Amino acid sequence: YKVAICEQMEDPALAKGIVKRSVVKIVTPGTLLDSSMLAAGSNNYLASVFDGGEEAGMAYCDISTGELAVTEFNGERRTDELLDELVRLNVKETVVSDSERGVSLRDRIKELTDTYVTVLPEGYFASDAAERNICRHFSVMTVQGLGLESGSAELRALGALFSYLLETQKGSIDQLTSIRKEERGGKCALDRTAVRNLELMETIYDKKAEGSLIWVLDCTETAMGSRLLKKWMREPLTDTERINERLDAVSSLTDDVLLRNDLREELKGVYDLERLGSRIAQGGVNARDMNAIMHSAALLPDIKAALSGTDSVLLARDAEKIDTLQEMRDEISRAIVDEPPVQIKEGGLIRDGYSEELDKLKADSAESLDWITGLEGREREKTGIKKLKLGYNKIFGYYLDVPKSSADKVPAEYIRKQTLVNSERYVTEELKRMESVVLNAETNINNLEYEIFTRLREKLRKYVTAVQQTAAAVAEADVLACFAEKADENNYVRPDVDGGDIIDIRGGRHPVIEQNSDETPFVSNDVHLDRDESSFLLITGPNMSGKSTYMRQTALIVLMAQMGSFVPADSARIGVVDRIFTRIGASDNLAKGQSTFYVEMSELAYILNTATPKSLIILDEIGRGTSTYDGLSIAWAAADYLCAKERQVRTLFATHYHELTDLEGKLNGLVNLNVAVSEDSGDVVFLHKIERGGASRSYGIHVAKIA
Ligand code: ATP
Repeated sequence: YKVAICEQMEDPALAKGIVKRSVVKIVTPGTLLDSSMLAAGSNNYLASVFDGGEEAGMAYCDISTGELAVTEFNGERRTDELLDELVRLNVKETVVSDSERGVSLRDRIKELTDTYVTVLPEGYFASDAAERNICRHFSVMTVQGLGLESGSAELRALGALFSYLLETQKGSIDQLTSIRKEERGGKCALDRTAVRNLELMETIYDKKAEGSLIWVLDCTETAMGSRLLKKWMREPLTDTERINERLDAVSSLTDDVLLRNDLREELKGVYDLERLGSRIAQGGVNARDMNAIMHSAALLPDIKAALSGTDSVLLARDAEKIDTLQEMRDEISRAIVDEPPVQIKEGGLIRDGYSEELDKLKADSAESLDWITGLEGREREKTGIKKLKLGYNKIFGYYLDVPKSSADKVPAEYIRKQTLVNSERYVTEELKRMESVVLNAETNINNLEYEIFTRLREKLRKYVTAVQQTAAAVAEADVLACFAEKADENNYVRPDVDGGDIIDIRGGRHPVIEQNSDETPFVSNDVHLDRDESSFLLITGPNMSGKSTYMRQTALIVLMAQMGSFVPADSARIGVVDRIFTRIGASDNLAKGQSTFYVEMSELAYILNTATPKSLIILDEIGRGTSTYDGLSIAWAAADYLCAKERQVRTLFATHYHELTDLEGKLNGLVNLNVAVSEDSGDVVFLHKIERGGASRSYGIHVAKIA
């Protein structure tokens, strides 16, 4: 849904005729800000996409954290890559143009992703308007200063994103303080099925986090750390220098357990500074948020000190980026009481001594209140009515309650207000006067407190950039400390990551399945891949023996290494991969008129067309959904293509077509592997151990019997 929020724009008490009303904000799936509607550990992205023919551009942002990025896609596969990106980022809402190309893009987005699509008139994507909007927002003369090019597809996408944001947010998008230009490359691309097939964020079976890689790896202490971890998982690096920088940091945190424990303890107390920063920019913080920022900021000096105490370059850089926000903290602590209410218009926010004017108002009101509370005693003495009581209710305000039995003693100046069964209630002129002083003072105090609060809130805006930068550094330290913690807990080792072609894993384990193998210990396995003698591992063997597990664990270990994490193995050497492709299991898209087999073939076609010599491919049982000889031919042809000398793409290929094992020695780099079983008087025991050579049987009938 989209929800338009309307408010009265003038005070109804002062308005003449009908009160002016206006739409103050439009809430859409991609523009949520309210923390109660957002998942703390996940980003909520809004994207805008534009297909310019030669190139396609995309701009995306998370207005709850202030992240903003643009990226461009070139060549024939531009829209495919763009779609991969939308899936990878789990974009919640996408803005497209209603032009001819926009409409065809829209159709593909609807078909292949879960994002909510908003179609805007082509004019929103106009280049000159885009430039104007962007320059105005960032206060620059030309877009070149921001690394953008006039007329480029990404600029036009960004322009539309800005127009849409300004329209829905009604002008306030100050939290977008900087823009990141994402270069293609530098990142390992996961195709749109890999995130799902490798069960990075959720399981395929029941769509739960439990049983996914993130479930095993995420022990971050902050929400921003948790979001960053997911981002690193979706965007593994390819730059070996940067990967090793992260690994160095993890190393120094695994080595120094005390420091790591202290650091993680401190991080536990840090609130979501990233989203708080964004709310400051939006002017949406309340007094409790301010205190949360203040308490978090109080922990920053220790975190900074801990980080600069390590020998890691990356952590030292994070330490430098952390601003301890001292000034901001002082300002908040001088102004805001320890436990303020959520409401900001009903007083109770501002500390005594912060504003002379407020203190004076409060003192006057207290004096009158004192007079009122002392009235009961004074009137009892004066009138001799022992049972006279002072009371208060919302309708009559303060009153004096006199039992009917004492009616004769009531003085002449008492004004009767209400008669009850056993008593009469009175007021006096003086009481009314004092009451109005107290009640007016309350309104005045609340108004003044609100005014002081909003002034402070405005003042805090100048710290937004510092808060955002600090949040980013804290998040990074949090993820690295989490990697170190997990390495320790799960017995991971530091991988050797280089730019070569060799992937050599000794004693590798599946990070998720090993967690569930309490009774039967997980059997570790070796993998060797290169682009020469061993580029294509053809894995045959029984059903249920562990072929899929072996292939997925290889992909996961590579991915973890490129994220900068230690890996579940005895040792690992990883020659970085530029893309991970997966084709696993059956899925269909019947609603879109695509059969199971058609989906399988289009995914295979996509992989064969897109893979580069630096890629890693996991193919699980290709050609299964058609007749045996058609399927075998397709599997054979795919193997033949991937093994060609000029390609030799590193591939793991599991199959029940045992005929293919004959290809060893005939195709470049094809190596047969199988999974060992032992047969004991007719019973099959799966050993889960990968060994050289082809298998001759699948024991399918045995598995069917167990089932
Ligand atoms: P199929 O050919 O029927 O698809 P498969 O050979 O791909 O089967 P997997 O799905 O990989 O088999 O594994 C089946 C089960 O065996 C896994 O769910 C896991 O519980 C167990 N298993 C696999 N590998 C190992 C291992 N190395 N150590 C312990 N258990 C394992």
